[in-house]
Amino acid sequence: MTAAAPAASTALERYEAVIGIEIHCQLRTASKMFCSCSNAYDGAPPNSHTCPVCLGLPGALPTINRAAVEGVIATGIAIGATTPAATRWDRKNYFYPDLPKGYQISQYDLPLAAHGRLAVETSAGPFVVGIQRAHLEEDTAKLIHGSDADGRRTSLIDFNRSGAPLMEIVTEPSIRTAEQARRYAEELQLLLRTIGVSGADMERGQMRVEANVSLRPRGTEPFGTRVEVKNMNSFRSVERAIAFEIQRQAVALDAGEVLTQDTRGWDDNRGVTYVMRSKEDSHDYRYFPEPDLPPLRVAPEWIEAVRAGLPELPAARRARYVDALGLSAYDAGVIAGQPDLTTAFEAIRAAGPGLSPKEVANFVTGDYGRALNESAERGPAGLVGRTSAPELADLLGRVERGELSRTNAREVFASHAATGETAAAIVEEKGFHQISDSSALGATIEAVLAANPAAITDHRAGKPALGFLVGQVMKATRGQANAELAGKLLRERLDGAGDGPA
Ligand code: ADP
Ligand code: ZN
Ligand code: MG
Repeated sequence: MTAAAPAASTALERYEAVIGIEIHCQLRTASKMFCSCSNAYDGAPPNSHTCPVCLGLPGALPTINRAAVEGVIATGIAIGATTPAATRWDRKNYFYPDLPKGYQISQYDLPLAAHGRLAVETSAGPFVVGIQRAHLEEDTAKLIHGSDADGRRTSLIDFNRSGAPLMEIVTEPSIRTAEQARRYAEELQLLLRTIGVSGADMERGQMRVEANVSLRPRGTEPFGTRVEVKNMNSFRSVERAIAFEIQRQAVALDAGEVLTQDTRGWDDNRGVTYVMRSKEDSHDYRYFPEPDLPPLRVAPEWIEAVRAGLPELPAARRARYVDALGLSAYDAGVIAGQPDLTTAFEAIRAAGPGLSPKEVANFVTGDYGRALNESAERGPAGLVGRTSAPELADLLGRVERGELSRTNAREVFASHAATGETAAAIVEEKGFHQISDSSALGATIEAVLAANPAAITDHRAGKPALGFLVGQVMKATRGQANAELAGKLLRERLDGAGDGPA
């Protein structure tokens, strides 16, 4: 316990946190927001994806990227928001070297989506986050700070990101705990990936989370002075930064300090927030309607077309897995929570419609999930591309029919994932046939018992030795014994008549 902790916990009983989250996501489009430059600039040489529009040269005119607009409409539908019939573009004016025009084209009072919500599960139960808005804007260029050969500090500008489509999603100040905030960010990432509008990778800056945090005495209405926290590069740091900020403000308020509306950064190594600058108010930006673009009209048919193209959303998927397939809420959450697992689960079920959903779920969350975590490569070059759903369905079918032991099935899976060979060929090659016949296992069990008298003594003394003996049977049969049957026979043999040699 640090010296500050007792004071802080008393303070936390007296104050309630009010938290609002702003998330910027890069949209996955072919071209940038207002020009035809390629949006696939990740890893490209600096300033190789630019044109007069995204360099902000005088006289260059913007044109609207339809796919980016559809990305925000899709997000709006997925969070249950409404899209107005007519929206508008606005100029947000400020000076910074990464903003060549001196203004950002954004949306101010008529965003593409408003009044949505997202439900999350927390350790304290379900929680619904109110979402104020989702709007479309353009990203800034990137400043790269370094030093030259003479040791002088330099700042270079890479305009590849300039004008890339960016969606900002802003919650109501309805979040109360750091955990709720983290869960919201995680669930939003899953949603954006599921509908395919953003890679939403925090470490790569595709999803940037900012948290507004203030405290108020419990039982009172008015909001306190808020602080905006930036530079959190993982979900874990979102939770840690907010928890830290709640503590810091509570201690400050208890000491009678007056808080200022600052923008603070999160230092992940030191585990603290620090002042970056005092915060601008929105009137400082002098928003006004963008004169170079007409208002954007969104016909109801357009919204319906986007809606029709949406896949099943995570919440609906979890509910279906539980209600229609009988999975546990835990398994449903794990499978629906990771797109690669969802894809594998759905594909194996499609290839093997007769398989028990629970069997497929156990495999996907177990052996398959482990292999996925262990394989460095993602996508087609990784596990997903190297395994085939029909083969995995065939494999699970053999287990279900009692032809293949789980131990051997694990080996067939590993071999299939490594070589791409069919399950049938691997089973044939290795000569795997599950021994599910009591009489066939009898001799092996006798041999194992004869070789392990100490384990028998342990078992009879009430010590856990049965697992070891089952393991020996599996080893003696090259994993082909039906482990459940082996356990049953061993138990019968040891606990039965009691007149055996041991
Ligand atoms: P900006 O930060 O750009 O000025 P807003 O004023 O709309 O934008 O607020 C941004 C976020 O801060 C929203 O998520 C909002 O819910 C939240 N927020 C507003 N007031 C407070 C407050 N007093 N405490 C905590 N969060 C707040
Ligand atoms: Zn361009
Ligand atoms: Mg803000």
